[in-house]
Amino acid sequence: MKPSAKTIAKFKGTTVVLTGAASGIGRSLARLLIECGATVHALDLNEEGLADLAVESPVAGAIHCHPVDVTDFQTYGEVVARIFEISDRIDFLFNNAGVTLLGEALNLPFERWKWLLDINLMGTVNGISLIYPKMIAAGRGHIVNTASIAGSTGYATASAYTASKAAILELSRSLGVEAKYHGVKVSSVCPGYVDSGIFSQDRIVGVDKEKMIRELPVKMMSPEEAAGRFLAGVARGRMTVIFPFSAKFLWYLSRWMPSMMTPFHKRFLRTFDAG
Ligand code: NAD
Repeated sequence: MKPSAKTIAKFKGTTVVLTGAASGIGRSLARLLIECGATVHALDLNEEGLADLAVESPVAGAIHCHPVDVTDFQTYGEVVARIFEISDRIDFLFNNAGVTLLGEALNLPFERWKWLLDINLMGTVNGISLIYPKMIAAGRGHIVNTASIAGSTGYATASAYTASKAAILELSRSLGVEAKYHGVKVSSVCPGYVDSGIFSQDRIVGVDKEKMIRELPVKMMSPEEAAGRFLAGVARGRMTVIFPFSAKFLWYLSRWMPSMMTPFHKRFLRTFDAG
């Protein structure tokens, strides 16, 4: 998906910090942002993935890779200091690093809940704590938090994941109101299913990964398509970006006719029950 003139105009010449850049949606976002003319500081704990991304970069010098675990506040802080040695400002912070955990809540070990919430929620909070004050000092900036449609509709067999994404949605809504007074914008993005590295078997409790994917109610988007829609929505200035159409449909359904969501939840439960 080629970026539109509007998307290019939004990101050209900007400095972007992007977490979770080594795989899936983040990897495609990095490539697209560079195509738009942005300088990308790519953060991820997957060093190999970052190195590949740098090699593939369509523009030499437009990407700076920083291996870091976003849950490690101190090291993340050191990375931010290094970013300011290279770039004089941060225009965009994309809090995108995330993991999932699927299975009946009953079967999810406590440590795995903590692991997920630490990455998805506290990783985002760490980025905001470290970079938002710099944006306020500059009087400008835009924080873009990757949530998920699942964080807005609920999703049987994804309690930990939906908890983290619902928190990100509300965090974005509240922070957005405050941030406006400092010249900073906050958006959240709710993709539907994307065919990425997030669905690994060690994050799916009680059913075979391939079977779970076969039984999904909708087709997954490619990361490239997701990144294109993601950036187009941010460039249009949307506070909440939701895609594709099926995700928007579920968003409305869960709000106005929640009982119509029951067949979806039952379908997920059946998939896991059958094992
Ligand atoms: P992915 O697994 O392909 O990419 C996630 C990246 O985050 C990986 O490169 C991983 O190494 C990195 N990461 C994980 N933990 C980290 C940590 N502690 N520190 C630094 N980096 C870390 O998955 P994806 O689907 O591209 O996920 C990107 C975001 O999109 C996530 O926030 C996810 O919840 C969200 N999302 C995904 C889907 C989907 O269906 N794939 C749908 C909606 C939202």
